[in-house]
Amino acid sequence: MNDMMTNKPALADFVERAAADIVRDCTQCGACVEICPVAPFAGVADSDHGATVAGVLDVLKDGGEMTGNAAAWTQQCDGCGKCLAACPEGVNPRQMVMLAQTKSAETVSQTPQLFRKMSRSIRLMAAMQLVPDDYARLLRPKAPRDVDVVFYVGCNAVRTPHLLFNAMYVLDALEVDYEVLGGPSSCCGIIHAKWEGEIGQGGKVTDGTISRFGDFTPDRVLSWCPSCQLHIGETLGGYQETEFAFDHVTKFLVEQEARLRPKLTTQVPLRVLLHAHDGMSDLGENVDRLLRAVPGLEVVGTAWESGYTCGGSGADRSPGLKALRRSATMARATDPDIDALVTLYHGCHGQLSTAGTAEGVKVVNFTDLLVRGLGGTPRQDAFEGWRSANDWYGLVDETTPMLTANGVAVDAAFLADILPDVFAQAEFRGGLDVFGAPES
Ligand code: SF4
Ligand code: SF4
Repeated sequence: MNDMMTNKPALADFVERAAADIVRDCTQCGACVEICPVAPFAGVADSDHGATVAGVLDVLKDGGEMTGNAAAWTQQCDGCGKCLAACPEGVNPRQMVMLAQTKSAETVSQTPQLFRKMSRSIRLMAAMQLVPDDYARLLRPKAPRDVDVVFYVGCNAVRTPHLLFNAMYVLDALEVDYEVLGGPSSCCGIIHAKWEGEIGQGGKVTDGTISRFGDFTPDRVLSWCPSCQLHIGETLGGYQETEFAFDHVTKFLVEQEARLRPKLTTQVPLRVLLHAHDGMSDLGENVDRLLRAVPGLEVVGTAWESGYTCGGSGADRSPGLKALRRSATMARATDPDIDALVTLYHGCHGQLSTAGTAEGVKVVNFTDLLVRGLGGTPRQDAFEGWRSANDWYGLVDETTPMLTANGVAVDAAFLADILPDVFAQAEFRGGLDVFGAPES
């Protein structure tokens, strides 16, 4: 998604054109199902792969709800990207699945009101952790000004804001001229389009966010969230042309390695295992390279997991495969030679932090280690330990002063009752109905 923003087709038109191209080019050879690691877990490995794909193409052509093996397969697609190189026709099967899910959700969404639920959940979690100035820095709209870089943090990462502030510490150390955009008011549009099936509204949200990027006249927009990267950078690839490049922040940091290395002067004497995902292996490789620039830090290897991220839009979609790969990760991480397991993104950090607490594994984000290497003090994970403590009233007590400071008045019993679902991101499974009603 580079170059000048010129024509601006409605998202529905774009989806129809992209779907029609795939229907035209796909020969239903079934190679994408054949290689797909979730196929056995979805119960479609021994079926007619061409017929499974034909079911997906029917939805791309005519709309309607996905059914049968097509539904079983695509519901478990975790975005691992293994199918991309397998297609002999140059189709991107991951995009095929994402667009078919979008069209199917137009008929029947499993997660209506998801955006409203997710927004409230994110704002609540942010208000529990952030002093008002920091809350405003991540979530409030900014007055446009000319900058070199927009640091686009997306929506869900605001649940784990310490990662974002640590990333900003690194950008500050590199003296990057940037502005931060994020929170639900700057959603990439994936929730409306793919999850709610509201393609028209999804287009408006995507258009609004891309237009907001343009208001800052940046050379580059650096995203943090892998879902935004996938939605804007791949599923909607070519939807809009822009004057700025859209890249992941880790790519930018690797490009800045020559400037970063001399600043990394503080020893961080740890042996670490990196956690990364098959579906965005380049980002895992970027982080591996960055960590190897930190003095004293030894990366003993990478625990690759399926999907492009942890969470409801990634690895969690195929629970059987995820459990298998996760147990291998934790088995390696509990090796006494390893001091810490290193996470990439927010979704991974929340889950692995919980698993680490249970299994006695220290879990840190890569940004934490970069800040330490730069001689700084990383922002702490305010919820470390709480995620698995099962002491929701204790957490309410702990965070009430911050909620009050952010102007959020909420009944303690109500909050303690909903926090398990808020932390589990239950809205991505159709839950958290209490946040689905219109705000009064
Ligand atoms: S992205 Fe991965 S899970 Fe999804 S269809 Fe392709 S190979 Fe299967
Ligand atoms: S998307 Fe490609 S690999 Fe999959 S069935 Fe169609 S032509 Fe074959």
